[in-house]
Amino acid sequence: MQEDVLPRHSRRPAAVLFDRDGTLIRDVPYNSDPNLVEPVPGAGRALDRLRRAGLPMGIVSNQSGVARGIISPEALREVNARVEELLGPFDVWAVCPHDDDDGCDCRKPAPGLVLRAARTLGVAPGDCVVIGDIGRDVAAARAAGARGILVPTPVTLPEEVAAAPEVAPDLGAAVDMVLDGAGVGTPREGDEGGLAGQGGGADGAA
Ligand SMILES: [Mg+2]
Ligand SMILES: [Zn+2]
Repeated sequence: MQEDVLPRHSRRPAAVLFDRDGTLIRDVPYNSDPNLVEPVPGAGRALDRLRRAGLPMGIVSNQSGVARGIISPEALREVNARVEELLGPFDVWAVCPHDDDDGCDCRKPAPGLVLRAARTLGVAPGDCVVIGDIGRDVAAARAAGARGILVPTPVTLPEEVAAAPEVAPDLGAAVDMVLDGAGVGTPREGDEGGLAGQGGGADGAA
């Protein structure tokens, strides 16, 4: 890749922002059923490592199913609450309910969700890392001045992988890239993934 021209990312990031579908949980298109929320392998462990490192974490998620009438705001809240129940609480949820034709400034690849999450956390967008599974996530990071890391899935397009400034094979490796050189690394072993009993705090549709 182009590592010789990349910044060194040696500073501790101020926050880590995750795409939701296809990144933290299995991508179920336009899912409105909390029972279908299923974390991707290693998600709980990766998130716990970042929490132990004291890094604030958020979600930046396109949910155009709301604009299309496929997902009700209530169902979106329930699904997001289930995500927190399975993966632990997040410090901020920034969700775009619009569709491409709405011309909003938050639907990724626009930077709005990243900017909103950073503002809510009280950190500079340029000090944030965005982790996602498609080119829109990386593009939103770049547009906001944040660092983007792509964790491809089988549906990620080859050209999106080729264009990403940083690519990790899985969430654990992405967290390694966030923590390496930041002086806040934590061991990967000995930590069972997932937190329990943390549901109900989501306000993604707000
Ligand atoms: Mg995704
Ligand atoms: Zn939007």
